[in-house]
Amino acid sequence: MFIDIAKIKITAGKGGDGAVTFHREKYVAAGGPDGGDGGRGGDIVFVVDDHLSTLADFRYQRKYQAQNGANGSGSRRNGKKGESLTIRVPRGTLIREVESGKLLADMSTAEPFAAAKGGRGGWGNTHFATPTRQVPRFAKSGTPGEAWEVQLELKLLADVGLLGFPNVGKSTLLSVVSEAKPIIGNYHFTTIIPVLGVVRMGPESSFVMADIPGLIEGAGAGVGLGHEFLRHVERCRMLLHIVDVAGSEGRDPKEDFETINKELAVFNPELADAPQIVAGNKIDLATDGQRTAFRDYIERQGYEYYEIIAPIAEGTQELLNVVAARLTTLPPIKQYEAEEIPLELFESKKDTGFTVTVTDDIYTIEAEWLLKILQKTNLDDYESLQYFQRVLESSGILNELRSRGIQDGDTVAIYDLEFEYVP
Ligand code: GDP
Ligand code: MG
Repeated sequence: MFIDIAKIKITAGKGGDGAVTFHREKYVAAGGPDGGDGGRGGDIVFVVDDHLSTLADFRYQRKYQAQNGANGSGSRRNGKKGESLTIRVPRGTLIREVESGKLLADMSTAEPFAAAKGGRGGWGNTHFATPTRQVPRFAKSGTPGEAWEVQLELKLLADVGLLGFPNVGKSTLLSVVSEAKPIIGNYHFTTIIPVLGVVRMGPESSFVMADIPGLIEGAGAGVGLGHEFLRHVERCRMLLHIVDVAGSEGRDPKEDFETINKELAVFNPELADAPQIVAGNKIDLATDGQRTAFRDYIERQGYEYYEIIAPIAEGTQELLNVVAARLTTLPPIKQYEAEEIPLELFESKKDTGFTVTVTDDIYTIEAEWLLKILQKTNLDDYESLQYFQRVLESSGILNELRSRGIQDGDTVAIYDLEFEYVP
């Protein structure tokens, strides 16, 4: 089974905790604090692997966790950084955050993408020594790593997408014009995974052609096979529509042609407007009458039309020349722009509970949803900071602090963010 969509949970490593230790040496009485910092948690990083062509691996493993940072220890030893976890995906994979539906990355280049950042390590007590506080008996915990549920969706990167009913000769064409070896068979749906072939036009010029599984009626509306595969032609620069002119399977070539274009329009109207060249195949089996009728029908609608006999490469070179020429006039393969996850998402969630603990005039707030906002907030940016303040107010956190008796100058600690309370 061809898997081109998958949902997984990714969790970056937690930052290690800072240590509370004091220097000890023989004959040295009260040594100073020497607790080291916790190490950073590992990230979850996605990279493209061109040996992969499906998302099948993600069917079996759905949870991915990067290593936690190690805790700090005595003698100012910092904890080791957690190892990042690299997840390999086929080229053309889109990564979407499930709850917001926002696109985090389009994995179509060699650029790695850090989808979940590891938590920061907490400071050891060494950092907290001051002239008035020489024996700091506390350190900071590391912050949790980012965690997301993401949907992976494969959208192949190809210049030309082959369209056509099952058995019209798409795989045969790809096999004679490229090095690809798709399965060819006289039965429907032989193409169950998309196959990409590189068509070489000369030493410096080539393009990629994609053979996707055959479409059937109702595909655009989600009936039967096909709908899911249409996404693979979505970012093709142009479409090459193959039709069995002889109607060798008892179908009508004109109907085939119309059905497929209707399916495209239902799935994505933009697709129906994509440049399309038509190739009439199985000319060896067609009568002169069939050939003329179909040519007239296609050309009347303004499409460029070419006749081929795919298995013996008859007419294919001329067809490729036309396709290559058309490609030079078209924009490059579509790349999707990454989007921001709206922070309001976490705020508006039902679960906006929080806990406040108070020790020594330090008010510590814990809330998983708030952590997500914090992780995504740029605290150096005035507007982001303002937003964060508003969230503290609207969620009732500030009110709770007031009712717990917070005073001007007390410390508010939210994970590793600390600030002074100003009424
Ligand atoms: P696909 O489902 O569109 O990929 O079709 P295939 O390439 O697998 O071809 C289906 C069948 O049609 C195979 O048995 C091919 O050998 C045969 N076929 C493909 N093109 C031609 C052609 O131009 N003439 C004839 N006679 N048979 C063809
Ligand atoms: Mg095929």
